[in-house]
Amino acid sequence: MAQMFPSIGEKRPKMPVFTIEDCPSCSTKTKRAFKLGDYVYKEGGECAKCHSKTLITMVFAELIQVK
Ligand SMILES: [Zn+2]
Repeated sequence: MAQMFPSIGEKRPKMPVFTIEDCPSCSTKTKRAFKLGDYVYKEGGECAKCHSKTLITMVFAELIQVK
């Protein structure tokens, strides 16, 4: 079945982007909203558990789930 793309660029559904921060000390993974400038293997924020520096291991967009 052929399907035409609607005009691209306007009124695209927003996909929330998330960043996963991985703590090398206690292996805690923290999912948070993506911030501009985030990229994989960049130093992340402070671990909530052990206060070590975390490392960004994943940046991904998540489709909004429709019930
Ligand atoms: Zn930790």
